[in-house]
Amino acid sequence: MKVLLKENMSNHTSFRIGGPADVYVIPANEFELVDLMRFLRSKGIKYYIIGKGTNLLVSDKGVRGCVINILDKMSKINVIGNKVSVEAGALMVQIADECCNNNLTGFEPLCGIPGTIGGAISMNAGAYDKEISSLVLSVDVIDENSKIKTLYKDELDFSYRHSIIEDMGYVVTKVRLQLREGDGEEIRKKMSRFTALRTIKQPLEYPSAGSVFKRPENAFASQLIQESNLQGESVGGAEVSSKHAGFIVNTGNATAADVYKLIEKIQSRILTYYNINLEPEIKLWGKF
Ligand SMILES: Cc1cc2nc3c(=O)[nH]c(=O)nc-3n(C[C@H](O)[C@H](O)[C@H](O)COP(=O)(O)OP(=O)(O)OC[C@H]3O[C@@H](n4cnc5c(N)ncnc54)[C@H](O)[C@@H]3O)c2cc1C
Repeated sequence: MKVLLKENMSNHTSFRIGGPADVYVIPANEFELVDLMRFLRSKGIKYYIIGKGTNLLVSDKGVRGCVINILDKMSKINVIGNKVSVEAGALMVQIADECCNNNLTGFEPLCGIPGTIGGAISMNAGAYDKEISSLVLSVDVIDENSKIKTLYKDELDFSYRHSIIEDMGYVVTKVRLQLREGDGEEIRKKMSRFTALRTIKQPLEYPSAGSVFKRPENAFASQLIQESNLQGESVGGAEVSSKHAGFIVNTGNATAADVYKLIEKIQSRILTYYNINLEPEIKLWGKF
């Protein structure tokens, strides 16, 4: 398997931020991944799983231990009837495309999520009132004993931006989805509409990690941030997007420390104004 030392994580995150990982490994397949997990666990080495890095803020000091890349070598998609079987590194956009090419409907609202299916399952990603969990039949994971096992939907404990994967430290290797028969042309049109909505509403011209905060109960994080006059607020090169208040963007030279300070500033103001604790949706890796 490919092993890189002191690999800069800014090369692997959509924020374009992050210091070096001690070791960055790209397993060639699921079997190498299992072997690697066994080895790291037996030696007590800390590890992190990365898909496309679109939901991550990695510290400027980087991460100690091993980052394991799932994206590059494990991304096959296989369609059988109305069922789609995908490896964890397949991108959501590729799956959406494959579904459309096979006249399968159901995936369209999720087509613009820029990450992998493994990342999406881990946090039950969703968009436009649809969560990935609604399409899941089963998921193959590497469990705590470094064995591959199949978990069915009701064993995955899905809820808003949550699944059992993170709680248990499982690694997703394969996902089986159930779609419905549809019309290819209609599906393509729907996908174009969802993509257009994103282009209008999201600051896609800047590096970011999407919405920074989870939706608090009975409120919307972006609305609270907007109403607290935080749009345009910045720390160093990190700025609350003026296009979508839920996003923090990297305007060019932001550090992880800049983004982190801005997150704290937003949390503090929302707590003062509304007595609401905004919880980050993005994952923080390393020391801040
Ligand atoms: C412009 C933009 C728009 C976005 N829009 C949306 C949106 O509409 N809805 C939404 O939900 N999210 C959105 N996101 C966030 C992000 O794309 C999703 O959370 C996506 O599912 C993350 O996938 P990833 O492969 O990039 O995961 P990463 O960022 O690489 O990792 C995120 C987490 O998942 C874990 N993980 C990744 N792969 C695996 C695996 N195989 N097994 C176990 N754990 C794994 C990681 O360890 C980490 O904890 C957006 C992000 C951006 C930049």
